[in-house]
Amino acid sequence: PRRDVWYRCRKCRTPVFSAAMLETHEVGRGQAAFRYGKRDAAPDARGCTSHFLNPDATSTLTEIEGKICCPRCSARLGGYHWAGMQCSCGAWIAPAIQVVKSKVDESIAAP
Ligand SMILES: [Zn+2]
Ligand SMILES: [Zn+2]
Repeated sequence: PRRDVWYRCRKCRTPVFSAAMLETHEVGRGQAAFRYGKRDAAPDARGCTSHFLNPDATSTLTEIEGKICCPRCSARLGGYHWAGMQCSCGAWIAPAIQVVKSKVDESIAAP
């Protein structure tokens, strides 16, 4: 991912995380991705309605599961679960720190 891309809260425009903090995953097995896919190909994000963050970037999450909220306006952006979650594409992500794509806007400017 490009490191100069930031994701902002759609409500208040606060930058919440950068592309460098994203955890990519292979699009779920058994779906069309397999036909196109080389193993080293970038994951096709079209089937995914959520972003997943790298756990290293979010070490302040101390509970087993919870909500991800905007630090400024407290809008709910997603949730996390250390035991894992399933992406909309079918892939299993563990641990899962999920931000719903429709709750954030992509922005190329650094904050
Ligand atoms: Zn996915
Ligand atoms: Zn906000």
